[in-house]
Amino acid sequence: MQNTHKKRTVLTVLLLGAAMLLLILVIALDLGKGQKETPFEQSGISMGTVVSVQLYGRDGEKTAGQLFSEFDTLEKDRLSWRLESSDIARINASAGSPVSINEQTAAYLKKAIEVSQKSDGAFDCTLGALTKLWDIGGENARVPAQAEITDALQTVGYQKFSLLNGQAALSKGQALDLGAIGKGIACDEAQKILEQSHLSGAVVSVGGSILLWGDRPGGGDWKVGVRDPRGEASDQLGSFSLAEGFVSTSGDYEPTLTENGKTYHHILDPKTGYPADAGLISVTVTAPTGLLSDALSTACFVLGYEKSLPLLESFDAQAIFVTKEKAVRVTSGLAQTFQLTNGAYHLIQDT
Ligand code: ADP
Ligand code: MG
Repeated sequence: MQNTHKKRTVLTVLLLGAAMLLLILVIALDLGKGQKETPFEQSGISMGTVVSVQLYGRDGEKTAGQLFSEFDTLEKDRLSWRLESSDIARINASAGSPVSINEQTAAYLKKAIEVSQKSDGAFDCTLGALTKLWDIGGENARVPAQAEITDALQTVGYQKFSLLNGQAALSKGQALDLGAIGKGIACDEAQKILEQSHLSGAVVSVGGSILLWGDRPGGGDWKVGVRDPRGEASDQLGSFSLAEGFVSTSGDYEPTLTENGKTYHHILDPKTGYPADAGLISVTVTAPTGLLSDALSTACFVLGYEKSLPLLESFDAQAIFVTKEKAVRVTSGLAQTFQLTNGAYHLIQDT
C-alpha cells in the first residue's frame, strides 16, 4: 500500500512536474524600466500535484512555509480521499450514515453543491464511484464495461448527499471526489494567508489553478499565458491580463488513458458516465474564488460553450473556451485583454 502510494507520488512528480509550468504560464517577471525585484520562490509536491509560489516583498520564506504547511493540512485533514484521516475519506467510509465534519470542509461542500445545482449536475462531487472505476491517471486505469458504468452511475447524484448542522451523509454506495476543486480551494486558503502577510504581491500555482495576488512588481496587471492544449507543455495559444484573481484550466490532454487506439480523458460527464464530449479541448476560467474557478472550469468543459454562458454569469466568472476545431471563444469580461498569439487557432468574436 505504502509502496503503491510512493510509486504514485513519483509518477505524479514526473507527470506533473512539467504541468505546473504549462497549464497556465504566468509571465510575472516582465519588469518595467530597470526595476528588479527578485521573488522568493519555492516549489514542491502537495495535494497530489505540483505547487509553486513566487512571493514578492517582506518575509517571503516565512510565508512560503505557512503556505506549504496549509496545503499539507488541507490534504491530510480535509480533502484527500486516500488518507483515512481526512474529512472526505471519513464521509466516504461511512456512506449511509452521517459524520461530523470541520466547519471549513462543510463550507466548501456547500459551495460545491451550489455549483452542482446551477450546472444541472454537469459538475458533481458525488461521482467518486465512477472516477474510481475509470481511475484515469491512476495505476488501475481501464475502460470499464457498460454494465459497470451503469451501476456506478446509480450512485452518482448530489441530491442524494446531505449536509446539515455540520454533519455530512452520503447515500449507501456513494463516494465523494473533490479532485475538481481541491486545487482551487488551496488557492482560496493561500489568499487568506497572503492577506495576513507582509508581502506586496504573489503568484501561487497549484496544478492547474493559480492565484494572482497583490501588486505585480513593476506595476500593471499580471499577465496570464493560456496553454496550447495541443502543443508541448510550454506552448501557449494566447494570454490575458488580470489585476488580481483566480484562474483555473481544465483540459482533455492530461491525464489520459489510451485503449484499443482510443484516448479517454479524466473529466467525466455524470449523465453518461463517459469522458465529457461537448466539443471542447480546454476551458480556462477566472472567478471570484479559487473553488469557483476550479469547479466552473470542470463544469464548463462538460457543458460546452453555449450552456456554460449563463452558468458563468451567475457566478460572475469569465472564460476562454477552446474547441476541437481550434476555435477560441472568450467571454466579454476577458475579450478586451485576451490576445491570441498562436496561428494554429482562430478567434471567434461574438457581436
Ligand atoms: P485537473 O484535476 O486536471 O485540474 P479538473 O479541475 O477539471 O482538472 O478536475 C478533474 C478531476 O475532477 C477528475 O480527475 C476527477 O477526479 C474529478 N471529476 C471528473 N469529472 C467531474 C465532474 N463532472 N464533476 C466533478 N468532478 C469531476
Ligand atoms: Mg476544476
